[in-house]
Amino acid sequence: MATTEPFKECTACGTHWGDYREFVIDRELRVEGFQASHVAPEYDLILVTHRCGTTLAVWADALRVLADEPAGAAPEPYVPEARPAWVAPVLACLRRHELPQGARLS
Ligand SMILES: [Zn+2]
Repeated sequence: MATTEPFKECTACGTHWGDYREFVIDRELRVEGFQASHVAPEYDLILVTHRCGTTLAVWADALRVLADEPAGAAPEPYVPEARPAWVAPVLACLRRHELPQGARLS
């Protein structure tokens, strides 16, 4: 990847994660859950709390690859505020701080 933008930066303590892999395996992050958008699936969020006590919101789409579900793939019919099926495996990876085996990690 050519980008120098970090995947995510903690707004409180400045810790940054270079890509989603670093984010997933960081044991100082605790998953709070999934927050569905009222508007469109690309605004769905996953909330995690950093060890500094700050809750961070990450675009769920950015972690969708963990469920072997490429971002932007044709979704199931969109139901506002519903939790898509691919969210559960993504949250499980974040809780275990493990990258999935066999996922397209690119
Ligand atoms: Zn922090």
